[in-house]
Amino acid sequence: MKLIKTMMAMMAIGMAGFITAAQAQDKGTVGVAMPTKSSARWIADGDNMVKVLQAKGYKADLQYAEDDIPNQLAQIENMVTKGVKVLVIASIDGTTLSDVLQKAADKGIKVIAYDRLIKGSANVDYYATFDNFQVGVIQATSLVNALKLPGAKGPFNVELFGGSPDDNNAFFFYDGAMSVLKPYIDKGQLVVKSKQMGMDKVGTLRWDGAVAQARMDNLLSAYYTSGRVDAVLSPYDGLSIGILSSLKGVGYGTPKQPYPFVSGQDAEIASVKSMLRGEQYSTVFKDTRELAKVTANMVDAMMAGKKPEINDTKTYNNGKKIVPSYLLKPVSVDATNWKPILIDSGYYKESQIK
Ligand code: BGC
Repeated sequence: MKLIKTMMAMMAIGMAGFITAAQAQDKGTVGVAMPTKSSARWIADGDNMVKVLQAKGYKADLQYAEDDIPNQLAQIENMVTKGVKVLVIASIDGTTLSDVLQKAADKGIKVIAYDRLIKGSANVDYYATFDNFQVGVIQATSLVNALKLPGAKGPFNVELFGGSPDDNNAFFFYDGAMSVLKPYIDKGQLVVKSKQMGMDKVGTLRWDGAVAQARMDNLLSAYYTSGRVDAVLSPYDGLSIGILSSLKGVGYGTPKQPYPFVSGQDAEIASVKSMLRGEQYSTVFKDTRELAKVTANMVDAMMAGKKPEINDTKTYNNGKKIVPSYLLKPVSVDATNWKPILIDSGYYKESQIK
């Protein structure tokens, strides 16, 4: 009898514990607006965000907008109407959200810009991202090292690609890369035969690989019927794959005519495989697990009325305010170090790559 009583008591405590835990778990819903599923990185971002938010006791409303601006706006409007506590937004076009964010602010909903800065609105509380200038520095440095500059005399032919002009990050990547390349271009050790420089000339709307491929086709037929292109600055793996297809189309990728060194970003599986085949030269790894953690910590701190941890208060002026930010470190990856960085860290399983 005594044993049964003790067991009943233990069960009651267990139940109570369960109920309390369940109540503590009900911290409300966080709206997570992601740009597109067409790139593996954003799928990983969304999955990681849901995981960390749930672990902290939030529900997550995760939406993808397939790179369609009105679609993303409608999704965010809907989240605001439903009364989410916080919006976590990786915008498609960082300049188009002011109205909906005003509605959010009027309802007391907090806003975190996720990876991409939201511009032209004072209603952005925090920004969680990577050191985007450094991403560009890493991309260009990998090309410069591959060409054995500054020792090698060259001159080497290089062509430049930029990201989507409606994404603030694209300018940071480009500026970071040019901080490394420009001195060599000025000295004539690197030559941009097309003379196409500056984001207005080299930008790639919506980060579209097909657009990059078409531009590379044009560059090759207009400027490289004689001579070869030795390196291509590409800001994102999806563009790198398009650029490499274009190069392959005109005969690059043989022992006599090897591919130029092509950079990238995001360490997407297709590009890691490409690097191991000796095609794409490098990429930049940005650990989306860490970005999700930082973002969820921001959510939690704001909900508890505390100040989130930040490490940058000067870089990201969105036109209305300097958005307090947390910048994570991007990491350079190529065929020599992909294993410790991508596999040993548990980001990918080796079977996904090989
Ligand atoms: C992200 C990059 C990504 C690009 C294209 C940028 O905003 O920072 O990691 O490669 O968008 O999706």
